[in-house]
Amino acid sequence: MNHTIDLTIKPKYIKNYKNGYPLISKEFFVDWSKVKEEGTIVNLLDDRKKFIAKGYYGIQNKGHGWVLSYQKEEKIDVAYFSTKIKAAAQYRSDLYNDEETTAFRVFNGEGDGVGGLTIDYFDGFYLVTWYSLGIYAFKDAVLAALKSQVAYKGIYQKKRFDTKGQYLDDEEDFVCGSRGEFPLIVKENGANFAIYLDDGPMVGVFLDQREVRKTLRDNYAQGKRVLNTFSYTGAFSVFAALGGAAKTTSVDLAKRSRSRTEEQFRINDIDPKGHDIIVEDVFNYFKYAVRKEILFDVVVLDPPSFARSKKHTFSVAKDYVKLLKEAIQITQKGGVIVASTNYANLNMAKFKDFIDKAFKELGGKYKIEHTFSLPKDFRVMEKFKEGDYLKVAFIRKVL
Ligand code: SAH
Repeated sequence: MNHTIDLTIKPKYIKNYKNGYPLISKEFFVDWSKVKEEGTIVNLLDDRKKFIAKGYYGIQNKGHGWVLSYQKEEKIDVAYFSTKIKAAAQYRSDLYNDEETTAFRVFNGEGDGVGGLTIDYFDGFYLVTWYSLGIYAFKDAVLAALKSQVAYKGIYQKKRFDTKGQYLDDEEDFVCGSRGEFPLIVKENGANFAIYLDDGPMVGVFLDQREVRKTLRDNYAQGKRVLNTFSYTGAFSVFAALGGAAKTTSVDLAKRSRSRTEEQFRINDIDPKGHDIIVEDVFNYFKYAVRKEILFDVVVLDPPSFARSKKHTFSVAKDYVKLLKEAIQITQKGGVIVASTNYANLNMAKFKDFIDKAFKELGGKYKIEHTFSLPKDFRVMEKFKEGDYLKVAFIRKVL
């Protein structure tokens, strides 16, 4: 049972919540110390005890919960989640009807009205991701709602919160329906991806880069030498190869990236032998390429926000300019760098500053030809633009 308590908003934040700000942060409340258990429903009241909104308590790196409703009497139950999921599915009807794309996001957290919860679609299978113990407390209602609203082959889940040993990992990722056979082959704009819903936190592809991959394939790859750094399962390499790249080079530290990238090539009828897959620290590879004077026409940079390898710690905030400079040095004049980051605490303006700084420091000239943020299915709230974490720029190295 999710019990309910009242919380009093500090006067200076009342307006935010009245205006639809969705994130609950403990700093914004007078009497937060009352809050104990994740999953508790909290009524947010103003200093005169007037109801403003209700939400739930759940700890995420972003904050301490999310607003769910502005109706005092609304119950957070199966009917509530059904309404949200139904609207979310309708909003993606074009994707459901698109035969060339069978993998996309169906429910994007606060963008679809419930922060801390995402649901992805993979050719008839659904993947529910819980971002806090708080939202996980609503598991039964959310799953019942999902089952009532969509036709599914099977449902899987991922827990993206620190279970601190409180939760025995007795539940596996499979929830109900039929078990998938993995890899599950899904489509994205006509290309194939191999998906594993039962094998660790990452399933094989980051769906938010769909438009970027398409742009790379359709407009930037033909005849080019393409370097894909932080390549993971090689999704950008596959799209570049499908777009007619002369050769792709994928670089990732993780040993499994080799077999997974080969697999992605094979299921797209591309011979992996025609492409380089290198298991190595990207920063070492840059040094090697500079020494050997290897140049590329297109360099893709899509690092994690933070990463630690044996020799380096990388953080987007501290090191992206350096990363860009390394990439610029091995990009052919007239070539293109596809620079990307999903670091939420960096907006597009600041990201463009990084790009400018990197080129200035090397005395180069550039032109940004395209920028991307999240695609439509990764719906973002008007009142919470911070939710749009993706920044991508196609940068032409002019000089
Ligand atoms: N660009 C990928 C997703 C990147 S996920 C895509 O579009 O699918 C981040 C990847 O960076 C992981 O596969 C991780 O193994 C890799 N990684 C992290 N630090 C690295 C480093 N220093 N050198 C090479 N790869 C690194």
